[in-house]
Amino acid sequence: MEKRPFYAFPAVAGITYTMGGIAIDADARVLKPDGDVFPGLYAVGCATGGLEGGPNKGYVGGLVKSSVTGLRAAEAILASA
Ligand SMILES: Cc1cc2nc3c(=O)[nH]c(=O)nc-3n(C[C@H](O)[C@H](O)[C@H](O)COP(=O)(O)OP(=O)(O)OC[C@H]3O[C@@H](n4cnc5c(N)ncnc54)[C@H](O)[C@@H]3O)c2cc1C
Repeated sequence: MEKRPFYAFPAVAGITYTMGGIAIDADARVLKPDGDVFPGLYAVGCATGGLEGGPNKGYVGGLVKSSVTGLRAAEAILASA
């Protein structure tokens, strides 16, 4: 049983990052539900999902995810040009 006195303080909650989003492969190519890719369509950063969630995965950091997927997409686009 909690005992008095109780204290209250103001708090402002915010969301800095969301988990889940567009499915991509290692080159940031957008995946169809069957696992094939949409040719020429890429997604990066906080719009993407797949790194987080499930029993063996966790938060990696929004900035890391955005910089890595952005770089991977740029490299893949250059390689296909
Ligand atoms: C308060 C706060 C604290 C955070 N702290 C951390 C932290 O400590 N560590 C960490 O790893 N992550 C942190 N994050 C999360 C991290 O900042 C984001 O996950 C990351 O910046 C997402 O990068 P992004 O490039 O995917 O998207 P964004 O950084 O949102 O970039 C999207 C860009 O697209 C532009 N844009 C949008 N619409 C259009 C349009 N129609 N045309 C042209 N441009 C458009 C926007 O202006 C913006 O510049 C924090 C986020 C917040 C809000």
